[in-house]
Amino acid sequence: MNNSSVATAEKKETALYRMRHSLSHLLAAAVLEIRPDAKLAFGLPVENGFYYDFDFGDTPIGEADLTDIENRMNALIKKRIPFVRSEMPLDEALAHLEKGGEVYKMEYARELEEKGFAENGNISFYTMGDFIDMCEGPHLEHTGEVPKKSFKLDRISGSYWRGDETRPMLTRIYGLAFESGAELKEYLEMRKRAMERDHRKLGDELDLFIQDPEVGVGLPLWMPNGTIIRDELEKWARETEFLGGYQRVSTPSVTRKELYIRSGHVPYYEDSMYPSMPVDEHDDYYLRPMCCPHHHKIYASRLRSYRELPVRLCEYGDVFRYEKHGSLSGLLRVRAMCMNDAHIYCTPEQVEEEFRAVIDMYLMYYGHLRMGNFRVRLSLHDKSSDKFVDNYEEWERTEAIVRNVLDNLGVTYEEESGEAAFYGPKVDIQVKNLMGREETVSTCQLDFVMPERFDLTYVDAQGEKQRPFILHRAPLSTHERMISFLIELYGGAFPTWMAPEQVRLVPVNDEVMPYAQELEEKLRNAFVRAEIDTSSESFNKKIRNAITRKIPNIWILGKQEQESGSVTWRRYAVKEQQSVSFDRALEALETLRDKRMMDNFADVDLPL
Ligand SMILES: [Zn+2]
Ligand SMILES: [Zn+2]
Repeated sequence: MNNSSVATAEKKETALYRMRHSLSHLLAAAVLEIRPDAKLAFGLPVENGFYYDFDFGDTPIGEADLTDIENRMNALIKKRIPFVRSEMPLDEALAHLEKGGEVYKMEYARELEEKGFAENGNISFYTMGDFIDMCEGPHLEHTGEVPKKSFKLDRISGSYWRGDETRPMLTRIYGLAFESGAELKEYLEMRKRAMERDHRKLGDELDLFIQDPEVGVGLPLWMPNGTIIRDELEKWARETEFLGGYQRVSTPSVTRKELYIRSGHVPYYEDSMYPSMPVDEHDDYYLRPMCCPHHHKIYASRLRSYRELPVRLCEYGDVFRYEKHGSLSGLLRVRAMCMNDAHIYCTPEQVEEEFRAVIDMYLMYYGHLRMGNFRVRLSLHDKSSDKFVDNYEEWERTEAIVRNVLDNLGVTYEEESGEAAFYGPKVDIQVKNLMGREETVSTCQLDFVMPERFDLTYVDAQGEKQRPFILHRAPLSTHERMISFLIELYGGAFPTWMAPEQVRLVPVNDEVMPYAQELEEKLRNAFVRAEIDTSSESFNKKIRNAITRKIPNIWILGKQEQESGSVTWRRYAVKEQQSVSFDRALEALETLRDKRMMDNFADVDLPL
């Protein structure tokens, strides 16, 4: 077993931790019953259960063995076997481990000794019946304390010893474990629901995006349907930013190294950037990880008077970040993304008002999109880390400004040290996904470093040059991240205004096809995305297909509709259908679209 680390120290107090930990011993003991030669590596509790890593040599085990192992674990639980602690001096411990051929445990025991973690030079072991494991606890008193049906072996995966790709590949067996059988059941149901809504699965089923190995991992290709969703978000942002007094700019995705030396990205952020590329002689270029330096250059391109501040420059900009291969996931973690970026240059007196306007914009977006499951985090620097620019006074001052804005807005937030940007404090919007996992969706940062580095100035009322502050903000995050959340939040059913196909016209037979074609053309001229189901499927199948594609509006067209110039309207989220004249239906549809109504929720009525 593993030793403790600071991060897990407090969790160790809980009964659940002890139970999950004890279950990993039970797992190892049960595995050794069927594979006595397996070598043990680490086993640990995790957020939903536990795991253990094994080296099975040339005879790996498979998912089919899990039931047998689980039965053996249950048999050990029934026996109420006590966990008994003992200690051995290091040489004795090493000799004991060597006898069992436990090469991984030996390596770790030596490391404990080197680092001085071994207690009085002793290594602790826990015995559970015939099974003995190097471990520092804590465990249950005896195996019988595991509640009935509260655990389940889940899956098998590969895992490198110590997470190191150059070391042997081990077999990791995962188990789920909760305080009761009911909680385990609840978790399994939640996971099933989440898997049905997984943005990778729905992204494929609804033709939103693909990934192609020849293009590269983490580089999604947006299909026509996904591009419509991006465009609609972008259009909304453009309108919102226009009303907020922003100016749009367009800047390039590659840039000379000089710029990132000046900005500090090279010393502080290089690990997250693609490697530099030599272009021309003696000149290195980078794919940009952020748009900020380009916007700063636009600000600096001419003398600015206090009269024109705040200057708000915005751009949906492509940015590129180097994420480790193993951490790439669907649209959530990618290597190329398009960000709802903007930089606000303002006087110190304007900071508070600008910050407030930005936070208001965030709350408007999130409220509108019904992304209720978020918390606000005030991310501060950490004095003991070298990840942050070294200027204690400015950190204190700017952190106080941001705290003050949040307090005045009455926003509930939590403070966290060490999560700031390297150039200033930030407010993060932390959204929980369907599995309860939290991710940062967007941030708003107050920057006191870049104005200095880029020598940004404005001329004040006295004719003196002053330094502006900069706010960095991206309320709609990147398209990749935001849309991955929205797909899962809506289960793929987008409101009319964002939906790739807004209306599906379903003629009940071929005789009404001319009427369907007439309506399709009228809809196209009104910039509505509509399609006729021309397939030879049965009527019921056509309706089912439209529902599977999560199309918000189905207009059914029969003889009666044709004669009266009407449609029978069926919505995705609502069972009842209603008949209305085509003219009224189109008007209602335009209202749904233009007001960006969230008609993917059943509580929103049609504006008829
Ligand atoms: Zn243990
Ligand atoms: Zn920025």
